[in-house]
Amino acid sequence: MSSPQETTSIVEKDLRDRLLRLDLQTKVSMVTGATSWLLTAVPQIGLRAVALSDGPAGVRGVSDIDPTPSASFPSPTALAATWDLAAASEIGDAFAAEAHGQGVDVVLAPVINLQRTPFGGRHFENFSEDPLLVGAIGAAVVRAIQSHGIAATPKHFIGNETETERTTYLAHIDERTLREVYLAPFNDAVDAGAWAMMSAYNGVDDGVEAAPMSEHGHLVNDVLKGEFGFDGVMMSDWMAARRTVETALGGLDLAMPGPLGPWGAALLSAIRTGTVAESVLDDKVLRILRLAHRVGALDGAVTRPAPSVDVPAVLRRLAARSTVVLRRSDDIFPLVAPRRVALIGPNAVEAFTQGGGSAHVNPAYVVSPEQGLRAAFGSDVTLTVDSGCSSRLTQPVVDAARTEEWTLEHFDAHNGLIATTTQPAGGQLRITPASAAVTRVVIRGIVQLPEAGIHDLGVFALGRHTSTLDGATLHMETETATGEDVLTSSNNNPPGATTNLDVTIPRAVAVCIDLEIPNLDDFGRWSVVVIRHGAPGPSDAERLQQAVANAQRSDVAIVVVGTNDEVESEGFDRVSLALTGGQDDLVRAVAATGTPTIVVVNAGAPVLLPWVDDVATVLWTFFPGQECGHALADVLTGLVEPAGRLPWTLPAREIDIPERASKPTDGHLYYSEGVIVGHRAWDTLKREPARPFGFGLGWTDWQVTDVQVSDDAGTSVDRTVMVTVRNSGARAGTAVAQVYLEPPLGALVRPVRSLAGFATAHAEPGETVKIAVPIRDRAFQVWDVSRHEWMTPSGRYRLHAGTHSRDLPVSVAVEIAP
Ligand code: BGC
Repeated sequence: MSSPQETTSIVEKDLRDRLLRLDLQTKVSMVTGATSWLLTAVPQIGLRAVALSDGPAGVRGVSDIDPTPSASFPSPTALAATWDLAAASEIGDAFAAEAHGQGVDVVLAPVINLQRTPFGGRHFENFSEDPLLVGAIGAAVVRAIQSHGIAATPKHFIGNETETERTTYLAHIDERTLREVYLAPFNDAVDAGAWAMMSAYNGVDDGVEAAPMSEHGHLVNDVLKGEFGFDGVMMSDWMAARRTVETALGGLDLAMPGPLGPWGAALLSAIRTGTVAESVLDDKVLRILRLAHRVGALDGAVTRPAPSVDVPAVLRRLAARSTVVLRRSDDIFPLVAPRRVALIGPNAVEAFTQGGGSAHVNPAYVVSPEQGLRAAFGSDVTLTVDSGCSSRLTQPVVDAARTEEWTLEHFDAHNGLIATTTQPAGGQLRITPASAAVTRVVIRGIVQLPEAGIHDLGVFALGRHTSTLDGATLHMETETATGEDVLTSSNNNPPGATTNLDVTIPRAVAVCIDLEIPNLDDFGRWSVVVIRHGAPGPSDAERLQQAVANAQRSDVAIVVVGTNDEVESEGFDRVSLALTGGQDDLVRAVAATGTPTIVVVNAGAPVLLPWVDDVATVLWTFFPGQECGHALADVLTGLVEPAGRLPWTLPAREIDIPERASKPTDGHLYYSEGVIVGHRAWDTLKREPARPFGFGLGWTDWQVTDVQVSDDAGTSVDRTVMVTVRNSGARAGTAVAQVYLEPPLGALVRPVRSLAGFATAHAEPGETVKIAVPIRDRAFQVWDVSRHEWMTPSGRYRLHAGTHSRDLPVSVAVEIAP
């Protein structure tokens, strides 16, 4: 039998032999996508098309127009809230199972950027504000996905912590901050063996080079591929590759999407004229062949077995256990045999189960809070459901049941009808022209309005368009859309208008949208259309009154508040952390009834909860994915412990947030806080959050009584710290031991404490467990900017252990000799 090294060299030789059989033109065709989601097939060397798919909260599949349903996962932050690498592996297995079912080889996940500021629009797609937690969870996800022959694609390399002007801003991040904070999770992902990565839209100035990340030779070629040893494919973010030579030389291996883009004929001629050496192209092609080999896309080699995972069961368990208990009253939580329950809140009626943008998937079903609770309670419990207030600025996307198939007539520039196509019922249409000659489409369909009363109906489309309802003009958009508009429109907010329709007898309204499809030059034509609808209903005052009345009549009130796709999405940053609409007033009004109240916060990123200490029980569920209602019922009825711990700090007031700057100024974004990010900054600045990093009460109580450093010479971890934890509460539960490092005083600016390691363990009531927490040497190290290498400052360090970043009752000293 050959050794792993021998096998690798046989494979590498085979890949090189295949490379040698390719002509220049074919090689160039391989480094740009064949379509939005497929790579180029080259049958003469046995290469089939490799399929890519978003994303971090499920595997959407390869069709934009008629996607096969796919499971919607809890948001990545929810996974990080488990602080459990086994849970991360389980989710990696679920990713692989979904990819397998969708015919996908490469999953565009996980996102391992940092939650640098709670205002960041894609906060929910990230794991944490702490680089160690991001790196550990990310690496476990990568390993698990790839163990099933599916590639993971950690993204976005690097500095993509802001959505405002995301395709153009230049992030200024100094060398030490890059190494200790932002590069660290990517280094972990390379160590985990990542087969692909995605570069960021933005640029980075790291003191050596200031360039867009799709062209950053220093960070991609020298650091990631050179120093870290990344041997996979670096692909561009969608439409991020703009220049031919700079991207080719800057370490990019694959320009996405295709078939257009800045390479093709332009790269061919750059190679023919010698501006780009053919060996540079060969390295890219070799990496793509290596990826193809790894996912089994060579010689019809796809024999990878489908992972055997009960995906809905895994998602339900994760959504329940990642729930964070922010406040707990054992008298009412978990629920004990209520007879009458008032379910209240805008997110109780319409839960926000996944964030907006490219992470979006199309699940076969979503279990609503009401469905979940009804299934759990059965017919013995009377359940009332009230929104209590509205929280949206615009209406939601129209329900598919109100629409029918849409007809699309495709016209060329001379108004010649080229083709007629259809798209399924629903309110979100992705528009791609039927052929290259098509410049305009006319979309026709209907929206059913069976209820008498005032409906709000709106049409929004990207690009110049005129929309009409029953022949009357609703909106004329005269601006031509740009590439930036297309990228931000992934959050479904293109321009348009809504109108009120007073319906006395049921009717179907004819919708017509005459749309010029935006031309994105190198990337072709593309657009998105969104139909929004609001049904007739009571006023906010009436809703509040109704909700309060039902709360008064019930044994318990469950109020579900939170965000929605107007607030948390790819494409824009948040402007405020306050809950929208009348949600704070609703919580206060329900709590004031005296009925025991459980508030459930359904949001990805922090929101302000000014009443958090005034209600009996407060739970945070993140975006729970398709199993939302089941998971909520499992938690409320005491089936599953909500064992989550906050992977970020929950501010009490916006003014206290150390890093509020998510917006570039004149195109520049300075990471001037350096390595003092997230909870490190809250601790260093001694500010009081509403709940600190790592906080989560679960459903039992913990006492951390001892910490010892054990000698680990010869094992794979550098040090193990044993943390003694006693379950002093009444229920069996999951403890999360957290260990924070306090450095010796020295000349260097260092965080007062940084997370050094963590581990979870189960304990029965009254049981004491010793939890082994692995600590890497890297936790002690700093990046020496004069010698450009890691060093460990000598002195007396302290390792503090406890239940969260502000509850660290025990500590142990570690002496590092000079
Ligand atoms: C996002 C990526 C995503 C890609 C493809 C981009 O706009 O930034 O995260 O993978 O689109 O949908």
